[in-house]
Amino acid sequence: MLADSHCHLNYKGLVEDQRAVLERARARGVTAMLNISTREREWDDIVATAEREPDVWASIGIHPHEADAHSEIDVAKLVARAAHPRVVGLGETGLDYFYDHSDRARQAASFRTHIAAARETGLPVIVHTRDAEDETASILRDELGKGTYTGVIHCFTGTGAFADIALDLGFYISISGIVTFKNARELQETAARLPIDRLLIETDAPFLAPVPHRGKTGEPAFVADTAAFLADLRGENVTELKAITARNFHTLFARTKA
Ligand SMILES: [Zn+2]
Ligand SMILES: [Zn+2]
Repeated sequence: MLADSHCHLNYKGLVEDQRAVLERARARGVTAMLNISTREREWDDIVATAEREPDVWASIGIHPHEADAHSEIDVAKLVARAAHPRVVGLGETGLDYFYDHSDRARQAASFRTHIAAARETGLPVIVHTRDAEDETASILRDELGKGTYTGVIHCFTGTGAFADIALDLGFYISISGIVTFKNARELQETAARLPIDRLLIETDAPFLAPVPHRGKTGEPAFVADTAAFLADLRGENVTELKAITARNFHTLFARTKA
């Protein structure tokens, strides 16, 4: 078992040859992939892929970059689209203060809308956060005060302190191919000590191809390379690490078991 907790199979670079991309992933032992939405106009295609492929599931959501363009998305709309049995999570949502492609207040409002939908549906929220750790932590904490929900910090690149906060709040942490990069020292230190029962692995394909594929188009098959790197980093058996992180995936995204 091996799960890619976050990929974009309908993005340029993967969508043109999606069938071959999926076959290469399966050939390397990938048994589950979560195909992530970033814009409303992708939702139909992403759900259709999940309907067609038994090992691919879908998320429904709006990326923080797209918050300005989706100010009409409300809780009811997310909840309605998330009712589909192949939709297992909400997002990706969150805060991106590195690019600031959308107004920060709009990003925060959209983030809170996704969390409200997560509370209502019981589905986990998939959080993207960049250069916005304090604000992300304070929204996650504030929203937990309104009622319970769960989720994952995807493509984790934060500080060790932020990892501890996310774990305290009950979140899972998903490690991408960035951990294999030479200059990712702090991330490697954090990834080495994360509790194994909260660890997920992802590619964020077509982005962030790990070593030894740097510079290529990322694809879910490469989650096997990141898993091998992580097992080595953590001093764990790679087969076990793959199985445990896949089990974590199915525990967090519990609708995948239905
Ligand atoms: Zn992201
Ligand atoms: Zn993504």
